[in-house]
Amino acid sequence: MAKRGLDDLDVEGKRVLMRVDFNVPLDKETGTKVTNDARIRAALPTIRAVLERGGRPILMSHLGRPKGKVVPAMSLKPAAERLAELIGVPVDMAPDCVGPEVEKMARELPPGRILMLENVRFHPEETKGDEEFAKKLAALGDVFVNDAFGSAHRAHASVYTVAKFLPAAAGYLLQKEIEAFERILEKPERPFVAILGGAKVSDKLPVIRNLLPRVDKLLIGGAMAYTFLKAQGLETGKSLVEEDLLEEAGSVKEEAASQGKEILLPKDHLVASSLDDEAGARVVEGAIPADQMGVDIGPATVEAYRSALRGAKTVLWNGPMGVFEKDAFAKGTLGVGKAVAESGAFSVVGGGDSVAAVEKLGLADSISHISTGGGASLELLEGKELPGIAVLPEKES
Ligand code: AMP
Repeated sequence: MAKRGLDDLDVEGKRVLMRVDFNVPLDKETGTKVTNDARIRAALPTIRAVLERGGRPILMSHLGRPKGKVVPAMSLKPAAERLAELIGVPVDMAPDCVGPEVEKMARELPPGRILMLENVRFHPEETKGDEEFAKKLAALGDVFVNDAFGSAHRAHASVYTVAKFLPAAAGYLLQKEIEAFERILEKPERPFVAILGGAKVSDKLPVIRNLLPRVDKLLIGGAMAYTFLKAQGLETGKSLVEEDLLEEAGSVKEEAASQGKEILLPKDHLVASSLDDEAGARVVEGAIPADQMGVDIGPATVEAYRSALRGAKTVLWNGPMGVFEKDAFAKGTLGVGKAVAESGAFSVVGGGDSVAAVEKLGLADSISHISTGGGASLELLEGKELPGIAVLPEKES
C-alpha cells in the first residue's frame, strides 16, 4: 500500500515540519564545512516543492551521536549554510529544536524562508521516542513530512513519534526509496539477481534468508564468502571466517538448492599475507594457502558474476566484493559495479560501501536507484517494517 505523499497534503501557508537526514560529514579541522553534501541535495526536491506550494519549511535532523548533550562540533549550522547555497533561499538557524524561542521563530517564519532546527539528538528524549518531546516538536508545525529514509528504521521522536501528532506524509525522497524497494521485493521483474558482499555473514544472514525465495540467483563476495566456502570444505587460510556460522552457511546453501535457486561463490581470489600487504597480492584459484587471506574476488569470478548478470531484469547490490578501500584490493568491487551498471536491469544499490564504490567509478547515472540509507535499506531487505514508514498514513484511494 502506498503511503500518503507530499502531493496529497495541503501545505499552502502552512508550517511544514520536515524530518530530513542532514547527518553529513564535516571537515575534521574546523568542523564548519560540509565535506559531502549528497544527503542535503537528496532532500532538495521535497524542500523546493514545499516552498513552491507556499509552505514554510521547518527542517529537523540529527548529526552524529551527541548522546543527548549539546556538542557544538555536531551543530547543524554548517548544513544550514550549505543548504542556503544550494537552494538559493535564506535559511535561519534556530538555537535549539524545541522551546519558546524556537516556537516564536517557527510562528514568525515568513514565506520564502527556511528554518533549520538544531540537532534533535542534543536532547536525550529524541532517541527514546519520548512523547512529550515529540509533542514539543509537533507544536512547531501544522503538518509533518518525513523525507529521512536514512533514519526511517529508528523509532525516534522526530522520525516516528511526532507523526502521531500532526497530519503526516512521506516526502519525495522517502517515496522514491519505498517504491524502489517495493519494486525489487514485491514484484521483481525476472530474472532477479542479488549481489551481497561485505565483512560479516552474521550481518547479512537475515537478508539472505529473506531474499532467497525472491531472487533467481544470489552472488556472494567480500569476506562473507569465506564462511560459505569453508562450510563447503575449502581451505580458506587466514581469511575472515565466522566459525560459529559454518553450519548455518551450509544450511543456507542447501535451502537454496531445494528452492532451485543458485548461490554463486568466488572461484578465484586475490590473496595477500595481510590487509596491509598490497604489494604482495596475487590471484589464486580454489584453496587459499595457509599463510594468505582473501582480500578480493579474482578476475575469473568477476567474469562469472558479469555473465550471471547478463540478461537480468532486476539487480540488487549490497556490500563490497573485497577490501575496496585499498586500490590494490578494489578491482573485484569495481568490476561488479561496472557489470551492474551495464546490465540494463532495474538496479538498486544500497549500503554505504557499495554506494561509495559506484560513486568512485562515476557509475551513479547508470544505476536506477542509489539508496540513501545503509541501515534502513538492510532492514527493508530483511523484510522488517520500518517504524518511520509504518507510522505514516496510507494514501487514500
Ligand atoms: P559491510 O559493512 O558488512 O558491508 O562490510 C564492508 C567492509 O567489508 C569494508 O570495509 C571492506 O573492507 C570489508 N571487506 C570486504 N571484503 C573483505 C575481505 N575479504 N576481508 C576483510 N574485509 C573485507
